Amino acid sequence: MEDQACVARFELHFHCFNCQVNVSAFLDVPDVEGAPRDAEELGESAFLQRQRFLCHRCEGAIGLLVGITAVT
Ligand SMILES: [Zn+2]
Repeated sequence: MEDQACVARFELHFHCFNCQVNVSAFLDVPDVEGAPRDAEELGESAFLQRQRFLCHRCEGAIGLLVGITAVT
């Protein structure tokens, strides 16, 4: 894996529709133009749309984003 510079790291919290549990995933934001620096910016950015949800318990692909936490 390439050692790419990251400007921010977020923890995304999803609620899985299939097994009804909350799961979280980490999202590293690369150092590119327009990269979101906080949770609010991330919510409005295209990075979120690119983040695919996959439940690690049931492998379901349908999840509702319920929260974003900035990780420092
Ligand atoms: Zn699930």
